[in-house]
Amino acid sequence: MSDIIHLLTDSVANQIAAGEVIQRPASVLKELVENAIDAGATFIQIVIKDAGRTLIQVVDNGKGMSETDARMAFERHATSKIKSADDLFSLRTMGFRGEALASIAAVAQVELRTRRSEDELGVLVEIAGTRVFKQEAVQCDLGTSFQVKNLFFNVPARRRFLKSDNVEKSHIFTEFYRIALVNSNVAFSLFDGDEEIFQLPESNNKIRIENIFGKNSKKRWQQQLLTIETTTNLVSIKGYVGKPEFAQKSGSQYFFVNGRFMRHPYFHKAVLLAYSQMIQASESPNYFIYLEVDPQTIDINIHPTKTEIKFENEQAIWSILSAAVKEALGKFNIVPSIDFDQEGSVEMTVGMSPENVRPPQTNFNPNYNPFGSTSYKRPVLDWEDLYGDFEKKENPTIESSPTWKPTYDLTVKSTVTPSGQQQELETAESRSGNFQYKNKYIFTGIKSGLLMIDQHRAHTRILFDLFYSQMENSRGISQQVLFPEVLELNADEALFFAQIMPDLQQVGFEFEPLENYSFSVKGVSSILGTSSVIDLLLEILDKARTTATDLTAGLHESISLSLAEASSLKSGQRLTNEEMSDLIDRLFACANHNFTPDGKKIMTIFTQDEFEKRF
Ligand code: ADP
Ligand code: MG
Repeated sequence: MSDIIHLLTDSVANQIAAGEVIQRPASVLKELVENAIDAGATFIQIVIKDAGRTLIQVVDNGKGMSETDARMAFERHATSKIKSADDLFSLRTMGFRGEALASIAAVAQVELRTRRSEDELGVLVEIAGTRVFKQEAVQCDLGTSFQVKNLFFNVPARRRFLKSDNVEKSHIFTEFYRIALVNSNVAFSLFDGDEEIFQLPESNNKIRIENIFGKNSKKRWQQQLLTIETTTNLVSIKGYVGKPEFAQKSGSQYFFVNGRFMRHPYFHKAVLLAYSQMIQASESPNYFIYLEVDPQTIDINIHPTKTEIKFENEQAIWSILSAAVKEALGKFNIVPSIDFDQEGSVEMTVGMSPENVRPPQTNFNPNYNPFGSTSYKRPVLDWEDLYGDFEKKENPTIESSPTWKPTYDLTVKSTVTPSGQQQELETAESRSGNFQYKNKYIFTGIKSGLLMIDQHRAHTRILFDLFYSQMENSRGISQQVLFPEVLELNADEALFFAQIMPDLQQVGFEFEPLENYSFSVKGVSSILGTSSVIDLLLEILDKARTTATDLTAGLHESISLSLAEASSLKSGQRLTNEEMSDLIDRLFACANHNFTPDGKKIMTIFTQDEFEKRF
């Protein structure tokens, strides 16, 4: 039998290698532009034709190549960027494998013109399918110009693999953004045929972001970016995060490390955590985060088309990152963005003094529950327990409590508009402008239209904030239980329960340990409105256990949410006007009044435009 193993010819070997590196026009663009950056270019001009199928041209004003280098550049493993494997650990360039040009030349027709500043004449190299067709001296500008024509001209299978022009173009833009966003000190232009798509002057990162994404909505981008900045000896983090209300179904999310785009699902979670409770679960925030670390502490020697990078100090950086984003979001004080209508809303009677109209008043006793007197809540034992001394002195009766001041002076039945028109208001109900639908939703007029609020969710948010703040700061009020129930746990649960017990005590629970991992529940939070305390405690325990093992959510959040869900006003509960107004005021006193702690929408607005369209 004859031998069957043989060496592949160079051109076949290169084609196979090219399959790894060059998958579509966007890969060519990425490699050429990265090379231009590595060459120190300050201006890079890109032209594509037919979504890069027939032409991808990249012209730079970088350092250029000598005649020998221009020819060498197309050899496999030819690179000027590293000499030994050790150099990988101090890498500051985008490229280092010396594979890209060889791969591109294996599957396309390439024309290179390049000149260094010290040379009078430049060099032209024409190469296609690894064969050199031409190499000669030419007059040309300083720097380098690559034209890559008819990609995959010799690999029909790959050509067929390409998607529609729009898809290929969007891949091209994606690669372009990833490079342009982190090289804002380099000017770029990008042409699709004759059409100028981008003209990006040299700038800073923030302006670069606005210039790329703000083409049609620059203002929104200027309004939405919050700066993050932290420097530690492990990492320096700079960048911008979008305000929560600008979150979209798919946000623009970019991480860069040492000038290179990367994907990092774990760090992504750190950012998302900072946004928890500010955006809906289905939305994602925009962010552009630039990390700088010692190159020795990351490993970028990954697959050429992959963008994941390994960090030595991943966990520490995770925490630093999350804290930095939280800080930025915290600094930006999330003030109620809803403007209660003083003029156009249904309840408004022009001429009334504004103080009487709607006090979006926030000085309330956090322990005071407006629904305390209605049926859904447990009876409370004692005035002092509930309102404390201060309230008692100030407000001998509920009616005169500042927290219970009716939102409107209900005795005023009519008023005169400036035009002299008499406006008769039918009832106090309509005057206050709140309207409950199906005992589930509250409608109220605002400047831009009609605000619809889910009452259960709104109340969940209010109580969540309350429980949470009790756990973190002030102690909640306890309510003694007449016939204490017993919480029976197993050894494992009891161990964990011991951990969350202080938090529960902080909001007003009282426990007495019994034998066999059991506890008698002697007191409960005075806000609590559920019937089965034991079920609730078991649920809290269960949720808290799952949360404790998950870095992405806090224990206090989890406990507060369970308590809030259990205590909050259910749908089906009829509310009086005062209760509705109070609920709305309290809701807007919450920093995150748009969403429940678990990311459900609390309110929505029907705009005036929408109404008008219907007529
Ligand atoms: P790598 O970038 O990994 O080194 P490439 O195949 O992309 O490998 O490029 C090979 C070499 O060609 C580079 O190391 C560099 O010396 C040279 N080169 C490529 N593009 C340019 C350019 N635009 N300007 C100057 N030199 C370049
Ligand atoms: Mg390269």
